[in-house]
Amino acid sequence: MQRGEHLYAGKAKSVYLTDSPNLLIMHFRNDTSAFDGEKVAQLDRKGMVNNKFSAFIMQKLEAQGIKTHFEKLLTDDESVVKKLDMIPVECVVRNIATGSLCKRLGVEDGIDLEPPVFEFFLKDDARHDPMVNEYHIRAFGWATDQEVEFMKATTFKVNDVLWQLFKEHDMLLVDFKLEYGRYDGELLLGDEFTPDGCRIWDVATREKLDKDRFRRNLGGVVEAYEEVAHRIGVPLD
Ligand code: ADP
Ligand code: UDP
Repeated sequence: MQRGEHLYAGKAKSVYLTDSPNLLIMHFRNDTSAFDGEKVAQLDRKGMVNNKFSAFIMQKLEAQGIKTHFEKLLTDDESVVKKLDMIPVECVVRNIATGSLCKRLGVEDGIDLEPPVFEFFLKDDARHDPMVNEYHIRAFGWATDQEVEFMKATTFKVNDVLWQLFKEHDMLLVDFKLEYGRYDGELLLGDEFTPDGCRIWDVATREKLDKDRFRRNLGGVVEAYEEVAHRIGVPLD
């Protein structure tokens, strides 16, 4: 399968049409961005690590009955995925308070959230991805009530599966973001699951093993992603 027309370029991935109308090629670039694209850098190997990381997680989730867009790995930094009609909201689950939650509510960084917290954000970089609720989603027609329920239930199921996976390898899944899209009358999990879109801490030291290393200039960004990949068994070469 070969890249066809360039469909769109996001901040970290590019998406291409293929000779099949239902499939896309997703290219994971080395580009890294934070703060809605204000801070950017090129990090060697990141595209390859994230492509293989996401493929591994999507297959783990499929094995637990969660339907995803993932079809197959194509090259080191490209995957074939089903072409979805994306819902323009981000679904975030938080197991531990940090990041924007602490800024917004003034709560202590690092406290456990029991039960976990669910939040929706509108995908809109120009407006800094504002938090929205189910009433906004309904009023503006971004998704139906049924789709909202499906996204919440599926994101919590993903949390159950992945909390356990990371815990088994001495890591805490602090929070993460998912995106969904429509395909043939149903919703599938799309986009990616990588350390770019989640927070993972070592259970003993609470060392950050995710994109916060880039956001906070801690160094060793891709090395941390590779460490997580290595611990959970992602084959990187
Ligand atoms: P961003 O849009 O946040 O800058 P990326 O660089 O990750 O993000 O760009 C990837 C784009 O592709 C996103 O807009 C995402 O919603 C979209 N996308 C992800 N999976 C699919 C899919 N299966 N079909 C169509 N579009 C997708
Ligand atoms: N996240 C993401 N893309 C976004 C916003 C957030 O992948 O546009 C992820 C982020 O990596 C973290 C979780 O969602 O794992 C919650 O992020 P938060 O709201 O704390 O925002 P941040 O502190 O990153 O601004």
